[in-house]
Amino acid sequence: RAPLPPPAETRVLTVSNQKGGVGKTTTTVNLAAALARSGARVLVIDLDPQGNASTALGVDHRADTPSVYDVIVNDGNMDDVVQQSPEFETLFCIPATIHLAGAEIELVSLVAREQRLRTALEAHLQRTEAAGQRYDYVFIDCPPSLGLLTINAFVAAGEVLIPIQCEYYALEGLSQLLRNIQLIEKHLNPRLAVSSILLTMYDGRTNLAQQVVADVREHFPKEALTTLIPRSVRISEAPGYGQTVISYDQNSPGSISYLEAAAELAHRGAPQ
Ligand code: ADP
Ligand code: MG
Repeated sequence: RAPLPPPAETRVLTVSNQKGGVGKTTTTVNLAAALARSGARVLVIDLDPQGNASTALGVDHRADTPSVYDVIVNDGNMDDVVQQSPEFETLFCIPATIHLAGAEIELVSLVAREQRLRTALEAHLQRTEAAGQRYDYVFIDCPPSLGLLTINAFVAAGEVLIPIQCEYYALEGLSQLLRNIQLIEKHLNPRLAVSSILLTMYDGRTNLAQQVVADVREHFPKEALTTLIPRSVRISEAPGYGQTVISYDQNSPGSISYLEAAAELAHRGAPQ
């Protein structure tokens, strides 16, 4: 495999879709692992109270673990909560614990409630860069809602990556998501752009899946990645072992598809 071109600046991608179970977390951890395997420095911020990304990356996220909650609610320092993944030396995670479940409400009464993640991330990026440890990619795994946590993710990011499941109702809710992103762009973060759409859980044997792919490519010719993520048991098994499929079964079709999607993302570069 040829090495991937590193980005000129750190790319911050929010992985978002207000539907649950479409492959946000799976996409976040496997793209992050795929890029880390190619040598990139990658940070995953788990912004879902479920903590699924933390589990999949095999990092500690028991209730008393310093986490993203301490950062966004208590003005904590990201440097103090970041953990290295056991899988790849250049892969890092800011875990989510159960405390994050209350954050959606607690944020409401806080000053600069929409910018808290951005402020903390910018400071962390500056310090790591000054220490000669610049991240190439930051992925933010969002909860399945369009509340304040997701707004914080949109405000902190330069790009949105939307995973779409190749299923019935795949495009339902997408216009609402895009409208919300436009509002954020207008009022809170003018540099935000939907850079990528990734089709997940593709089963080529069904006409339905093929139809969803055709629809998405027709509506989003620029954003839709060429790579399709197949439905694969190995992908869904990996988190049970605290692993990504990239190391759990690196030659499986699921692993290869995420490695290819990561290469596509790297070669396309950040949106202009
Ligand atoms: P979300 O974060 O959007 O809620 P997840 O990434 O947690 O979605 O995926 C939902 C479920 O589907 C999980 O059990 C996950 O293991 C499974 N899954 C995700 N992608 C695939 C895939 N390509 N093949 C098979 N199962 C998948
Ligand atoms: Mg999830």
